[in-house]
Amino acid sequence: MAQYTTVAPGSTHGELEVKPLITDPADPLAPVALRSPLRPKRSELVSQGPLEKAYLFWIVGASCDGCTIAISGATHPRVEDLLTGRVPGLPRIELVHTVLSVESGAEWTENLRLAAEGRLDAPYLIFWEGSIMDETVSGEHGYWMGLGEDPVDGRQITSLEWLDRLAPGAAAVLSIGTCACWGGIPAAQGNPTNAMGVMDHLGKDYRSALGLPVINIPGCSPVGDNITETAAAALLFLNGLAPLPEFDELGRPAWLFTETVHRHCPRAGYYEEGVFAHSYGDKECLVELGCWGPVVQCNIAERGIVDGHGGCMNMGGICIGCTMPGFPDKFSPIYERPPGALLSTNTNRVMGGFIRRMRKLSQTDKMRSTRWSEDRDLPSGWGRYKTQPVGAERLVHRLYSRKQHSHEGGR
Ligand code: SF4
Ligand code: SF4
Repeated sequence: MAQYTTVAPGSTHGELEVKPLITDPADPLAPVALRSPLRPKRSELVSQGPLEKAYLFWIVGASCDGCTIAISGATHPRVEDLLTGRVPGLPRIELVHTVLSVESGAEWTENLRLAAEGRLDAPYLIFWEGSIMDETVSGEHGYWMGLGEDPVDGRQITSLEWLDRLAPGAAAVLSIGTCACWGGIPAAQGNPTNAMGVMDHLGKDYRSALGLPVINIPGCSPVGDNITETAAAALLFLNGLAPLPEFDELGRPAWLFTETVHRHCPRAGYYEEGVFAHSYGDKECLVELGCWGPVVQCNIAERGIVDGHGGCMNMGGICIGCTMPGFPDKFSPIYERPPGALLSTNTNRVMGGFIRRMRKLSQTDKMRSTRWSEDRDLPSGWGRYKTQPVGAERLVHRLYSRKQHSHEGGR
């Protein structure tokens, strides 16, 4: 089967009236590549680099548009700031987006055609959302992902064909979301489309015009700030104002995906003390309900989902591993305790349980002021239950205090 579509026999395209392309730069429905000014008013410019603008082509494969929704909630930086060129050091972004662009139809695809022919007046980046479906198994004259028609013969052009035409000339190709990075849900076992990620399709030898392999920002959907922050880092590099950002062995921004969810989870303290939730709504660690956080690399626990708020376990949900290349197959059945958790939770129950009791002892002592301890009394209606330690507790406190102040001679 062919990689790209051909004109189907019996096509009626030649008989249809094709309206002329809008090319007047003053017309808001013209391709943005034609109406975008190279030099906006100086008062609007804050860029300090050589580039005043760059094009961003947001192209969609097999996607649910969740990544588009995610980026619309970004706050550091905001999409609006990128589009208006308000971020110091960054070029203004001209966005060509399958949903958000003003122009549509032939005027929209004209932007892509001009880029493929090297006729844009500024560099461009590709942001690809969704997995790539294998068009060689889409049947004769069929296709999985259509994105515009050929203006001459009416042949359906696929998203994949645009990617192949545009990727070599792009300053950078960014895979947005787990589907684009590794295949994601459309690539789950049993799919008939041979779905895959962008880097699998472009291959090991792919390098952008700037010499970069595909950059991966996984998540289903990703944190919006992870997308715009990585875009800003890449644009700073493009503008000659910053070194190339650090990426890990999977092409992910290293500063965003090195740590596991678990290390920054607000419930990690419960895990360490061996206290686990029994049902959703409980405040403790969710590992026995199916959380994969200890092995999954993701920064949502500390970054939140929008402007520092929300995010999976912050809101009571488990980690299902959505940023990982093995998602979803290797994390299923979802909502069941990972097999490895049995050993770690039982170990922590014993060890963590002991540590927790020791801490409680120490905490009880630290909740008494020195004066109360010396007076052996609490002169308040509050805290009446906090009597002085007796028996073994008192002995432990004495030994602890002696150790704590040993360098002072003990007391
Ligand atoms: S809820 Fe998940 S990520 Fe958080 S502490 Fe428990 S296992 Fe770790
Ligand atoms: S915590 Fe887990 S499920 Fe939530 S976004 Fe991160 S990887 Fe996905």
